[in-house]
Amino acid sequence: HGVTGILAVQGAFAEHAAMLDRLGAQWKLLRAAEDFDESIDRVILPGGESTTQGKLLHSTGLFDKIAAHIAAGKPVFGTCAGMILLAKKLDNDDNVYFGALDAVVRRNAYGRQLGSFAANADFGDIKDFPLVFIRGPFVVSVGPDATVETEVNGNVVGLRQGNIIATAFHPELTDDTRIHELFLSL
Ligand code: GLN
Repeated sequence: HGVTGILAVQGAFAEHAAMLDRLGAQWKLLRAAEDFDESIDRVILPGGESTTQGKLLHSTGLFDKIAAHIAAGKPVFGTCAGMILLAKKLDNDDNVYFGALDAVVRRNAYGRQLGSFAANADFGDIKDFPLVFIRGPFVVSVGPDATVETEVNGNVVGLRQGNIIATAFHPELTDDTRIHELFLSL
């Protein structure tokens, strides 16, 4: 297929690029609206700081390009801050970005003490995936359009909604390529 566009205005985009290199998949960093050309057939929204990413999405003009991509039903994978950008609603922040994922998401949901930790859980059919959390969100409610794929310690941290994959954790910081492979198969 085509090229994966990796949002690269802020955050952990290089780790996603390294993961795609391991899988032999083509990618392109999205820093400006003109980077989003017709070769792009899927988009990764990386971890980072969602408020900053949201501002830069608008100032670069990338917001409208990615919103149109998502509205067309094309594949998008959001990790951590990327999950926040995809959510229909945040329960502790008034901002809404793409508003595509039928879920309410809580930013920095684990607080400062428990902000960063590791665990293992399934992502749907992908069993025993290593989960890395860095001051991540979790999902506080899921609407009918989204499906829960990962739960850990009673919290929902992985969702799928058609061609949308959203994880509160960071697969790009592990050696496990399975969720990226799933994304590339969409
Ligand atoms: N805490 C960040 C935010 O709310 C997300 C953390 C991450 O992406 N590692 O934007």
